Amino acid sequence: MIDYVYYKNKDKELDLIKAALYKNSRVVEVKEIKKPEIKDNEALIKVKYTGICGTDIHIYEGLHPRAKAPLVMSHEISGIVDEIRTNRKDMKIGERVVINPLISCGNCFPCKENNPHLCPNLNLVSIGGNKKRQIENIAYN
Ligand SMILES: [Zn+2]
Ligand SMILES: [Zn+2]
Repeated sequence: MIDYVYYKNKDKELDLIKAALYKNSRVVEVKEIKKPEIKDNEALIKVKYTGICGTDIHIYEGLHPRAKAPLVMSHEISGIVDEIRTNRKDMKIGERVVINPLISCGNCFPCKENNPHLCPNLNLVSIGGNKKRQIENIAYN
């Protein structure tokens, strides 16, 4: 539910994107937000399509225990690689991708056993977890 189009706002000299922001129970507004800046080993995905699943409905109804407003909605995302800050050769700008919305620590026992969905520090794109990273979650490893 993040809009597909971002553009340069000449007046503010900011790259802005449109996003469906969960503001409160049953209140979602399309707003302009600052385009996320990616860090090393991350790629920025220009969203083309998103799914709406039961979790999104729970968030919308204000029933999800970890989703706190304001929150860029949606975690089932497909799109196009827009920017890359990595030396990886297996990813190219313009490539079509689907994201894995799990954000695991990579250091705990379940993660090291290739079970990141069991990570005790598990976060999901656009749901709860590290507040500072929520909006930036559309940039991911
Ligand atoms: Zn889902
Ligand atoms: Zn972990």
